[in-house]
Amino acid sequence: TAPEKNDFIRQIVREDLASGKHAAVRTRFPPEPNGYLHIGHAKSICLNFGIGREFGGLVNLRFDDTNPAKEDPEYVEAIKEDVHWLGFEWAELRHASDYFEVFYRGAVKLVEQGLAYVCDLSAEQVREYRGTLTEPGRNSPFRDRSVEENLDLFRRMRAGEFADGSRTLRAKIDMASGNINLRDPAIYRIKKVAHQNTGDAWPIYPMYDYAHCLSDALEGITHSLCTLEFEDHRPLYDWFVDKVDLAGDPPLYQPLVDAGFAVPAAKPRQIEFSRLNINYTVMSKRKLLALVQEGLVAGWDDPRMPTLQGLRRRGTPAAALRLFSDRVGISKQNSLIDYSVLEGCIREVMDAAAPRRLAVINPVKLVLGNLPEGHAETLRFPNHPKDTSFGDREVPFSRELWIEREDFMEVPPKGFHRLVPGGEVRLRGVGIVRCEEVIKSGDEVTELRCTLDPLTRTGMEGADRKVKGTIHWVSAAHAVPAEVRLYDRLFNVPDPDRDEDGKTYRDHLNPESVKVVQAYVEPSAARLPAEAGVQFERLGFFTADRRDHAPGRPVFNRTVTLRDTWAK
Ligand code: ATP
Ligand code: MG
Ligand code: MG
Repeated sequence: TAPEKNDFIRQIVREDLASGKHAAVRTRFPPEPNGYLHIGHAKSICLNFGIGREFGGLVNLRFDDTNPAKEDPEYVEAIKEDVHWLGFEWAELRHASDYFEVFYRGAVKLVEQGLAYVCDLSAEQVREYRGTLTEPGRNSPFRDRSVEENLDLFRRMRAGEFADGSRTLRAKIDMASGNINLRDPAIYRIKKVAHQNTGDAWPIYPMYDYAHCLSDALEGITHSLCTLEFEDHRPLYDWFVDKVDLAGDPPLYQPLVDAGFAVPAAKPRQIEFSRLNINYTVMSKRKLLALVQEGLVAGWDDPRMPTLQGLRRRGTPAAALRLFSDRVGISKQNSLIDYSVLEGCIREVMDAAAPRRLAVINPVKLVLGNLPEGHAETLRFPNHPKDTSFGDREVPFSRELWIEREDFMEVPPKGFHRLVPGGEVRLRGVGIVRCEEVIKSGDEVTELRCTLDPLTRTGMEGADRKVKGTIHWVSAAHAVPAEVRLYDRLFNVPDPDRDEDGKTYRDHLNPESVKVVQAYVEPSAARLPAEAGVQFERLGFFTADRRDHAPGRPVFNRTVTLRDTWAK
């Protein structure tokens, strides 16, 4: 069993349970459905759901759907699928939009308390008035409107009487605060855009800082985990929770109770951790969207994309992403994780979980001249070298084989231990063969005529005879042609995000990031179901393509090479 995780967030959770501050923990994963999840989100998913699992708490999946212009049900479906695929189950599926009526009543309450006002400044003016890190802001000329006037204007905002962007509802906090987030932040803006859940019911939408903390409170979230850039928003988070006071008299959440929601209402605590950054990739949704829209990749699930859909299609096991999240860990230090750490996790998981198969990617014919014409037999191969529970399988063997073209060299360099004219090599699971004759067409080798030493076959006295190299093969008559997609990193520089000399991430795409080849695989590989992972011996870890593979018409994606070829 894995050692108990003990990062600073889990320490806080442990203390809060031990002290009785909370009887149970409750966390949430709160994506905005404005794009596909990427590997950075996996860190947040593994953290929130991991804590739920380890401490016996509940975890909600909450769509932070407060910005309908950018959101889409397609993203909602993909996000649900991705969370399940990663191996997690939410206690409740919620939407910020479930709470729109409560948010509205909370805002009315702030207005009534003199803690919020309707402001007619334009977005640009608001920016001007806000001040800078070194300069205090200035009060809006609308800041001292009476409660009655504010209530009237806010109700009319809600009724759809005003144009988009013409007014906002703002919290009245402190325009001179050293924390810019407290300089009268917006609570509501006017946006007459249809919402995927609430349709045309709302011409105003709440801002993230207002909606998020109240959503947490309404769901009884005890520990609201977010990334470091929200650290400066925490005072505002606490301000809204305290001032709106959902559980006050009368409780504001009654409409939810009437609608059948459980409302545990807690005072949530926001805790920030550093976001995941990985080299050789980009992770912002904006850039990922551009890659898709500009046709630089084949879609959100292109196997080179850092999206969960892309990683999955490439063949990355969900367990490898969970291992990766654990290995990266949780802290407050920003860092850049090397891509090879992810690849190492994939190798580790697939090495233990993937059965072995034989495939030849760049074939050349090898004929065993001393076997009779038409000779064929069935061999048994173990499916895993270290784990007998994988059992074994039948592998057809015959007089004519395909081997890798690179496993033969007419003029070998020093240290080449595979097949050469007149030389010997072991055929994996068969015995030792000698190359007697090289048939060529022009410069190209078309066939290797060999003899198989019968005394070196499995079970014979010469089976242990030493030769330097062992190569893999498939039987030409039995092998199934397969499309093999050789994927590599999408970018060829460690920091494609850095815009320099007029270059952007678009200029750093790795031209070798995919190569499609025709290969031959042994029959049992062709019969694997879509998404099955295998190790093609000596070639790498591969996965049957989720969409294009069919038994009998195999398509395999290279998930990861056997060794790190990018190491400096
Ligand atoms: P992006 O910046 O890529 O658009 P986002 O933060 O806007 O991402 P959300 O849908 O708001 O995307 O994210 C949902 C949750 O995932 C948030 O709690 C967010 O903090 C977390 N998250 C997003 N990116 C990362 C990351 N790189 N590392 C860790 N957590 C992340
Ligand atoms: Mg976002
Ligand atoms: Mg976000």
